[in-house]
Amino acid sequence: MNSPKVPFVPLCLSFAALFPVLSNAEINKAETVAPDVYFHEGDLAGHGHCNNGWVIFDDYVLVIDGNFPSGAQEIIPKIRAITNKPIRFAFDTHHHGDHAYGNQVWVENGATPIAHTGVIEEMKKYETGYYGNKPGRWEEAAKTRKDVAASKLKPPTLLFRRDMIFDDGKRRVELLHFGVAHTHGDGFAWLPKEKILFTGDACVNGPYNYMGDGDSGQWIKTLEAAKKLGAQVICPGHGPKGGADVLDDQIAYFVELRKEVKKLAKKKPAEVKAAVETIKANLQKNPQVARYVGDFLAAQVEKVYVEMGGKPFQSAQARIEQQNEHAHSHGHVLARQHSSGQSSPNGHSH
Ligand SMILES: [Zn+2]
Repeated sequence: MNSPKVPFVPLCLSFAALFPVLSNAEINKAETVAPDVYFHEGDLAGHGHCNNGWVIFDDYVLVIDGNFPSGAQEIIPKIRAITNKPIRFAFDTHHHGDHAYGNQVWVENGATPIAHTGVIEEMKKYETGYYGNKPGRWEEAAKTRKDVAASKLKPPTLLFRRDMIFDDGKRRVELLHFGVAHTHGDGFAWLPKEKILFTGDACVNGPYNYMGDGDSGQWIKTLEAAKKLGAQVICPGHGPKGGADVLDDQIAYFVELRKEVKKLAKKKPAEVKAAVETIKANLQKNPQVARYVGDFLAAQVEKVYVEMGGKPFQSAQARIEQQNEHAHSHGHVLARQHSSGQSSPNGHSH
């Protein structure tokens, strides 16, 4: 988890398998959030897709999140059914495959991928194949995802450091960066008039927090800064959209998780690992955060414990990595091996 090495897990697939029962009637439907502002909850369980948004300006369409290639292909006809204005920009909220691997599809449809500069830094770290070194996450995902294999990695080419503003006098969208959260390059899309905030995976609505590429302490601060915007509608990276409480609940989850781990910060790794079920029970008792508790909990506890100075639960991680490698070499989908409570240490693309 603290290792920068290239992932083993072809995510998306494994992620999908972890949440087979969470689909609901809302997914794969374009929802009007405000005039010219749309939200689309992706099919996470079936295809590993992230949520998308799009905003129709006078002269063009701005899309929020690149999704996987198949996710981009899913929503392009839905945008086309609403408007024939050109799709000019696709904003990646962060570098993960389910938010950025569809960039090439957007480029082929005339759009330029945009992101915070941290997204490029993260891609240089994890997408080593693209930058001329050994195969990275994209190549790993291409082994098990046909849509990825049929496309190519296209890092964002239009970058911002703090903000980027789209404003045609009627619609205004501010792309904002508040610091480290889910990754080191999280961007938010803020619509000040409508008080709608698209958060990417810095805020999700359900048990979808992958914490391997971020920092839980800074994450809370970043979300507190985003909260000051005063959003009334939260469109998360995964899970259904909701009100301001979604942001509050996401913050509360990390606060409570850190409190639980802090009690054990001086304990040995094996003791912390053994306490995961107790932590789970404690968090599930709290109605504000219970829905965030899921199959990633052991990995989340480990991540926070490592942030607080502890050591990873080595043996479990090593075992899972070996299983993954083994399954890979035989061409199997790995996902099911992760349903026992340990998530992949560094391959997860959410
Ligand atoms: Zn995601």
